[in-house]
Amino acid sequence: MTEENSTSTTGPAPKDIRQVDPATLGITWTDGHESTYGVRHLRENCPCASCIDEWTGVKRLDPATIPENIKPVNLQSVGLYAIQFFWNDGHDTGFYSHKLMRKLCQCIECL
Ligand SMILES: [Zn+2]
Ligand SMILES: [Zn+2]
Repeated sequence: MTEENSTSTTGPAPKDIRQVDPATLGITWTDGHESTYGVRHLRENCPCASCIDEWTGVKRLDPATIPENIKPVNLQSVGLYAIQFFWNDGHDTGFYSHKLMRKLCQCIECL
């Protein structure tokens, strides 16, 4: 194996994504990190243009409008850099970059 710079911009990627319980999502990363997320926390931090102002970064989403029983019904990889969440409230425009996912991590280590 030779050291190449081509991989240096690629951060850790999700290796395994699973629903731990209805309110918790777990991700195992390629660097061995074990992330846990409250699904509501993820929905509240949706990075799409209707949830966050693209220019100012100010949140447009009112957490009060998120249903009590919010949960992802489907997930999809977007290229090599992001995960698209399909929520049970019909929202599916948020592309969560791997970087953002690591920032939102709520495991004991990251909290
Ligand atoms: Zn959104
Ligand atoms: Zn973590």
